[in-house]
Amino acid sequence: MLEASGLMVFYENMLALNNVSIRCASDQIIGVFGANSAGKSTLMYALSGIMLDIRKKEEMSGGERITLSGSIRFEGRELINLKPSRRARAGIVLCPERRRIFKESTVLENLKIGGYLATPRQAAETLDFVLRVFPALNRLKNRVGGFLSGGEQQMLAIGRALMAQPKILLLDEPLMGLSPLMQAMLMRATREIRDERKIAIIITEQYARPVIPIVDYAFILENGSAVMEGTRQELMDNPDVRSAYFGV
Ligand code: ATP
Repeated sequence: MLEASGLMVFYENMLALNNVSIRCASDQIIGVFGANSAGKSTLMYALSGIMLDIRKKEEMSGGERITLSGSIRFEGRELINLKPSRRARAGIVLCPERRRIFKESTVLENLKIGGYLATPRQAAETLDFVLRVFPALNRLKNRVGGFLSGGEQQMLAIGRALMAQPKILLLDEPLMGLSPLMQAMLMRATREIRDERKIAIIITEQYARPVIPIVDYAFILENGSAVMEGTRQELMDNPDVRSAYFGV
């Protein structure tokens, strides 16, 4: 369904993604694991197209030169030069690192803003689903985003992304800074989202352990390169991967 191949990103002369190729089928949850600075967010920006906006902004302000190349095919179409807003319409939706919810708006307003691409009927139906998969948000509907806990903000960020009717949801480090209990809850909800909505999901994280139970397949990024890939079992059976990414 989504196939990125030979992705290269340079920030000036710094190579941030080096010939990275990843695939995600329509019913899969894919993990992308890597340490700080491995290139996880750069990959998510390349897939979602946000990189084109960042590049344009840098060009206009005389900032750094960003070079992006490679191919991103989605449902048979080449997307590498498609604007992020058009990619979102095509069904590729990013839930960015650090959540970036609207802190002054209420939970319900945040969700409704997320639904701007949806028909009123889709928005109403998706809102019901979001409040079912994250019951805590139901009780917090009228609370402003800035007053939510980190875990609640993450639920809201995922809920808002769902409102945009993704076919593929990109979750960039959704578990950062959250308790193990909250992490487990979010991963259960993520699996439920895939199972019930048939949405493909790509998740990046530094540590694989909380994510690995729900992934079908995963890639390991090191210094901008995809150095390993495999099924959950293949990665868990590899002693280097176990010690570096599973903490066992
Ligand atoms: P983290 O876990 O810290 O978010 P990451 O795996 O998401 O890390 P990226 O943010 O993609 O990593 O960064 C990859 C590399 O590119 C890092 O060395 C980072 O310092 C560098 N980098 C990221 N954004 C820029 C930028 N706008 N200009 C220059 N270098 C950048």
